[in-house]
Amino acid sequence: MTSPTRICCIGAGYVGGPTMAMIAYKCPDIQVTVVDLNQQRIDAWNSETLPIYEPGLHEVVKACRGRNLFFSTDCRQSVADADIVFVSVNTPTKVTGVGAGKAADLAYWEGAARMIASVSTSSKIIVEKSTVPVKTAEAIGKVLQRNCADPEVHFEILSNPEFLAEGTAIKDLENPDRVLIGGRDTEEGRAAVEALSSVYERWVPRERVLRANLWSAELSKLTANAMLAQRISSMNSISALCEATGADVQQVAHAIGTDSRIGPKFLNASVGFGGSCFQKDILNLVYICESVGLKQVADYWHSVIQMNDYQKNRFVERVISGMFNTVSGKKIAILGFAFKKDTGDTRETPAIDVCHGLISDGADLCVYDPQVPKDQIHRDLATPKFLWDHPTLPNGAQMPFSCSQIEKSVTTSSDPYQACAGSHALCVITEWDEFASLDYERIYASMSKPAFIFDGRNVLEHERLRSVGFIVYALGKPLEA
Ligand code: NAD
Repeated sequence: MTSPTRICCIGAGYVGGPTMAMIAYKCPDIQVTVVDLNQQRIDAWNSETLPIYEPGLHEVVKACRGRNLFFSTDCRQSVADADIVFVSVNTPTKVTGVGAGKAADLAYWEGAARMIASVSTSSKIIVEKSTVPVKTAEAIGKVLQRNCADPEVHFEILSNPEFLAEGTAIKDLENPDRVLIGGRDTEEGRAAVEALSSVYERWVPRERVLRANLWSAELSKLTANAMLAQRISSMNSISALCEATGADVQQVAHAIGTDSRIGPKFLNASVGFGGSCFQKDILNLVYICESVGLKQVADYWHSVIQMNDYQKNRFVERVISGMFNTVSGKKIAILGFAFKKDTGDTRETPAIDVCHGLISDGADLCVYDPQVPKDQIHRDLATPKFLWDHPTLPNGAQMPFSCSQIEKSVTTSSDPYQACAGSHALCVITEWDEFASLDYERIYASMSKPAFIFDGRNVLEHERLRSVGFIVYALGKPLEA
């Protein structure tokens, strides 16, 4: 196949939706259909209120929806018609059975592969867009080939992991650092790699489309996420040391970031990383290392997650100890609930752990986030994380907080000033730009005294806030600068 004309993507989530919208936008001659089992999600993609918030996404979707970009629940027909099928389904951490708590759950992937095989009457390129364990292509190849009724139909599997970051997805897709395509070193494999790269090369310079073998491409995605998370955990570990010694983590980050071998990005200390990928992909890496007998390598990567948990707990302890060792009956404003700015995604957000820690000590919380709907906040706080991807509680699992306890302890507000009014403290959890420019004199006047600020992202002007009257705690910085 030289020039594909029909693409289908299974999974209309944070990755499938934006990546396919970008392909449709840049390749008007290719018909792109994104399918999902979730009717609500598809309806939202077909409406004015898209199911995810991402700067620039609405414009891209509007430019090509109905022209060459379609969203549908008719998975079978769209797959049957396609030359290239991307699979961008969720690959969460397994909750029960072998590998529970670490291994990637490939049930959604396997379901998609069985469906592809059952409807295919022509050969297709199958693209792994989801993040999967190394060697998944081998397993999926067997599922595909052995479930297809027509022995003449051939499935060529490629690995094309997605490196976009939520919040900057459209920028990342339009101008990627690189596109990675892994394929077999056979005639069919090389032809498939060329067919897929011909799609990207409509707007990505050819030298940025990297070719690799299948296993390297699969492993590169896990490695990239593990390394990014490791940088955050490394700086978070240094933030604890800074607080104990009087050093300033931002000065340290600046000093080391100017070293061209280290570079300045991803060196911000924070309340901890979140999002659906970092933790699950590291756990997956840990599981793979353990399965091949590399225990020390597994322990090394696992420590990145342990440091993240430590940082979230440390922040909660700092809030409680700073407020005279108890927050019982005190109102605390939580500014930001999404796991990072410019997204409404709350999967694995550190806000959940921080809120749970403070509620356990008796605090009453008022949460404000510019993009996260109020009912989502209550749902997230009342639902164990593993239930997001799995509809039933595994045997013996306990709900950490009952819905009524969350209803009693947590309110939400669509106005940051209202969230802060009457509170004893405010905690910045997400680095939304708007938090830097709030009227802190007005906020201070409306709060109980002494009024505390705990800046979990180091996005506020701490000295100015101290001059307003706040007691300020900033991560990795001396208490009184
Ligand atoms: P998501 O949960 O937002 O979307 C996955 C979608 O797949 C869901 O809407 C689900 O209904 C659908 N689905 C599952 N099984 C299906 C089936 N058999 N048929 C049709 N639809 C099906 O997930 P996401 O955040 O888009 O992530 C998808 C994959 O991409 C994951 O492997 C993730 O690790 C990876 N990834 C995510 C990001 C990110 O920033 N979110 C970045 C890079 C890679």
